[in-house]
Amino acid sequence: MIDLLDARERMVERQVARRGVRDARVLDTLREIPRELFVPENLREFAYDDQPLPIAAGQTISQPYVVALMAEAAQIQPGDRVLEVGTGSGYAAAVLARLAARVHTLERHAELVESARSRLASLRLANVEIHLADGPHGWLDAAPYDAILVAAAGPAVTQALKDQLDLGGRLVMPVGERHDRQRLIKVTRTGANHYEEDDLGEVLFVPLVGEQGWAETASDRRPNEGRSFRATRPASTPDLIARAALPLPDPDDPAFAEVFDRFADKRVVLLGEASHGTSDFYRARAAITRRLIERHGFSIVALEADWPDAACLDRKVRARPASADPEPAFQRFPTWMWRNVEVEAFVGWLTAWNAERPMEARAGIYGLDLYNLSASLRAVLDYLDGVDPEAAAVARERYGCLTPWAAAPQAYGRAALSEGYSRCETAVVETLRDLLARRLDYASQDGDDFLDAAANARLVQNAEAYYRAMYHGSAYSWNLRDTHMFETLEAVLGTKGPDAKAVVWAHNSHIGDASQTDMGWSRDELNIGQLCRRRFGDQAALIGLGTHGGTVACATDWDGPMEVKTVNPSRPDSYERLAHDSRVGRFLLDLREGEISPVLRERLLEPRLQRFIGVIYRPDTERWSHYAECRMPGQFDAYVWFDQTRAVTPTTTASGRAGEDDTWPSGL
Ligand code: SAH
Repeated sequence: MIDLLDARERMVERQVARRGVRDARVLDTLREIPRELFVPENLREFAYDDQPLPIAAGQTISQPYVVALMAEAAQIQPGDRVLEVGTGSGYAAAVLARLAARVHTLERHAELVESARSRLASLRLANVEIHLADGPHGWLDAAPYDAILVAAAGPAVTQALKDQLDLGGRLVMPVGERHDRQRLIKVTRTGANHYEEDDLGEVLFVPLVGEQGWAETASDRRPNEGRSFRATRPASTPDLIARAALPLPDPDDPAFAEVFDRFADKRVVLLGEASHGTSDFYRARAAITRRLIERHGFSIVALEADWPDAACLDRKVRARPASADPEPAFQRFPTWMWRNVEVEAFVGWLTAWNAERPMEARAGIYGLDLYNLSASLRAVLDYLDGVDPEAAAVARERYGCLTPWAAAPQAYGRAALSEGYSRCETAVVETLRDLLARRLDYASQDGDDFLDAAANARLVQNAEAYYRAMYHGSAYSWNLRDTHMFETLEAVLGTKGPDAKAVVWAHNSHIGDASQTDMGWSRDELNIGQLCRRRFGDQAALIGLGTHGGTVACATDWDGPMEVKTVNPSRPDSYERLAHDSRVGRFLLDLREGEISPVLRERLLEPRLQRFIGVIYRPDTERWSHYAECRMPGQFDAYVWFDQTRAVTPTTTASGRAGEDDTWPSGL
C-alpha cells in the first residue's frame, strides 16, 4: 500500500510547486484535501498521479496541477464568493471551499451532483452549494462573484458568465475547439462594460455541453471540417511511419537481425521490451544479440537479472566450473521472466557457439539488477572463504548485521527506519572497499571470479541502500537501482577491456532515456539508458520494443501465480496506436535524426502515451497503471514493432509445473 499522505506531499511539490504555482494558500490547500476520496475506489492508488482520472458519467476529475493553476490564476481571497462550472467529482469545489468564503458549483449530471454532495459533506465543507444546472448561464441567485472557474472547455466565454462577475472579478476558462487542446483564458472585469483578457497557455479539458457549449451528441467532425477543400491531404502520421518503417520477418527467420547491422559499431546496444512476458520480444532480442556476437564482436550480454542468477547462466554458456552456491538460479518471483523456452534456446545457442572458441573469445552473460540480496551475500562470503579465509571471517561478521534480513529484505528497510538509517551501510561499504583494495591479489588468481565477487559486493552495498529507500517509496530507490545497473555494466565493460562491446536486455522503462518520459518529468527518475547516453554518447543505441495486442505472461499481484492474459488493444492516444495504424505488422523504425523525415520526427516528438507492462499487468486499470507520456524519438534511437505478440512459454518440469525445475539451467 502506498503512503497517500506522502504521495500527496510529493504531488504538491513535483507536479504543482515545481511547475510554477507559488500561491502558498493554494499549495497548502492541496496538501489538505484527500484527492483519493474523489476518484473511483479502484483508482485510488493513482489519485496523486500527474493526470486527470475518469469518474462517473463519462467525466473526469481534473489533473491536480490544473486545479491549482486555475485557483491561483483566479486570485481567490478568503472573503471571496466563487462560482464553479462543472462540479464533476467535487474535488476542485473542495479546494475552492477552503480558499474562499462561499462557493456555488454547477453540474449537469444528477449522479455527479449526488456523489459530490456526499463527499463534501463527509469533509464537513459547509460553505459549498452544488446545483443541478446548466453552467454557461451561471447562477444568478448568488451573483455577483469575485471569481468564476469553468472546468469544462467551451467555444467562448458566455456573456451571462461575464455579467455575473463583480467589478475586479476574475474568470478562468479553457476556450477552444472541442477536440483540440484549448487555451486557458483569464478574463478580468475592469469596468461595467470592460474586460481584460489574458492567455495562460495550452490545456486539455472535457467539453462543456449544452446549448452554449457543444451538442452532447456532436459527431466527431471538427466544426470547420468540410468547409475548406485541399487538393492534397497531408500524410497522416501512421502513413509516414509506414513509409519510414523497415519491415521485419518473424524473429525466427535468419534474415530478421540483418537490418540491425546499423548498430554494429556501437559500444553498447540496449534492447528493451514493453512487458516481461512476451515471446516475440525475447526472440527478437536473441536474434539481434546473436548477430552482434557472431559478426560484430559483442561479447557481453547484460540482463535485467540478479548477478548471482545470471552467473549460473554464464557458467553454463562459457563452461565455467559450477558455483559452490547450492541455490538454483531464478527461483524467485517472477520465474517466467528468465526460466522460459525462449531464454533456454538462446542459452543453448550461446553454449554451442562458445564451445568452439577459447575462453577469452567466449561471450558471457551478466546480471545487472540488485534484488537477490541473499544469494549475493552468500556468494561474497563463499568467494572470500576460498581465497582469503581471514577476510571472509571479517566480512561474515560485518554482514551478520544484514543477514537476518536477507531472506526478506523489505523487512530490513522497516527495521533500518526505526533503528537508524546507516545501520549496515558502513559494514557493506567497508567490505566492498576491502575487496576492491585486494583487487590485484585476487585478480591474479582468477579474473572472472574476482569480477564475480566484486559485483556481488557492490550489489550488497547498493541493495542495502535500495531496500532502505524502497521503504520510503521515493524516486531515490529507483535511481539507486538503475545507477547500480549502470555501474555494474561499466564494471563488466571495464574488466573486458577497451574494445569490449555489450548488449543489454532490460525493460523499456530502464533502457529508454527517462529524461524524455514522465519518469523524469514528474518523478525525477533516471535510468540505465539515460546514464549510458551520458557516458557513451552516440556509442550507445537505445532500442525500444512495442506491441498492439496479443497475450502476455504476467501476474495480477506481486508474488502471485503466472497467468496468461490478453493484452488490451492499444489506446487511440498512444504511440502504439500510431504504429498499429501504419498496418505494417513488424518493423524497425530508426528514429535518429537524419534517419527519418523531419516532419515525422517532429510529430513523434509531441508527447504521447506509451504502454509499460512489467511483471504485473492489470488490464482493468490499464490507462492509469500502465500508460505514461513520453517523447519517443528522445526516449529511443529506434523502435521495434510487433503488432501482435504472444506470451513466453515458461519451462516446465517432468511434473509439468511451470518454472520449477531445480536443475535449470545446468540441466539444460
Ligand atoms: N472540477 C471537476 C472536474 C470537472 S470535469 C473536478 O475537480 O472533478 C467537467 C464537468 O463539467 C463534468 O462533470 C461535466 O459533466 C460538467 N459539465 C459539462 N458541461 C456542463 C454544463 N453545460 N453545465 C454544467 N456542467 C457541465
